[in-house]
Amino acid sequence: MSFASDVKDELIEKSELARAMGGMKPCCIHAEMYGIFLFCRDFTSREICIKTEHEQVAKLFAAYAGNITGASYKPVVTSSGKYRVDIKKPEERAAVLEYFGHTGAEVNRRMYRSNIEDECCMAALLRGAFLSCGTITDPQKDYHLEFVMAHKVLCDDLLKLITEIHLPDEDGTVDLSRREFEPKYILRKGVHVVYFKDSESIENILTFMGAPDAALEVMGTRMYKDMRNRVNRKMNFENANSGRAFDAAYRQIEAIRFIEEAKGLGFLPDELRELAILRLENEDFTLGDLADNVKEPISKSGVNHRLQKILETAEGLGWKG
Ligand SMILES: [Zn+2]
Repeated sequence: MSFASDVKDELIEKSELARAMGGMKPCCIHAEMYGIFLFCRDFTSREICIKTEHEQVAKLFAAYAGNITGASYKPVVTSSGKYRVDIKKPEERAAVLEYFGHTGAEVNRRMYRSNIEDECCMAALLRGAFLSCGTITDPQKDYHLEFVMAHKVLCDDLLKLITEIHLPDEDGTVDLSRREFEPKYILRKGVHVVYFKDSESIENILTFMGAPDAALEVMGTRMYKDMRNRVNRKMNFENANSGRAFDAAYRQIEAIRFIEEAKGLGFLPDELRELAILRLENEDFTLGDLADNVKEPISKSGVNHRLQKILETAEGLGWKG
């Protein structure tokens, strides 16, 4: 099953549980229903219909339609394997539209705020909308959550609603001046898309809609990716450093060989000669290794200083390193 499908399962499961336990206010149940109907494929006096890949969403749509009209509806499977629920009788369609304050004759499909009684209902409406027209990419592949619809005005209404959402701080206070979500908009092949691309917004919107488990999964994926990136960066850094160290060692060896040929290593003062021989015999030694292996222990910077002197001596003898 896809990640999107898991998210919808979780939303429906938690919503059903809340309703069964009396944990969802009537205003929010109404808003969730509205979200599902308003953002479904057709919502006019001529046709009210949902078409979805998710069987549970189709069943929920059918159940909610039945709650309004008193009739009974069943999803049918289309030739493309989707689930479709039609409200076929005109009087039943009229009842559904009227239930939400729509006439069915509107030129533009839009969101009527009369269906959102309070702040609490926003989450429910968004959940319904996501069940109807939303999808989310597996966070392993990409961070992307979107709502897709055919109506520009409705899309604008949704954008506006999302920017009005306020999440409480940890101490429960709400900062009304802060904008929680910055949804993006794109017109894609003739449909209007409201979307989020950053993992933090996606985690917050999933939690807000009522899918905390999915939010945790996105968060876990993000943390894992961050950690892997940090490890990779560290390894690249170390590789680059060891490359530089190798270049330096190579240069020192060239200089020592030059001195050896020009004057013999006896030309060098004792402390430099000892280090020069150590360097020649141990090409892969780091500064630390060299420091640990000279007779009289010195610091890494002491070793570096002596190597520098060896280079200068070679240069003094005409080495063009
Ligand atoms: Zn409410």
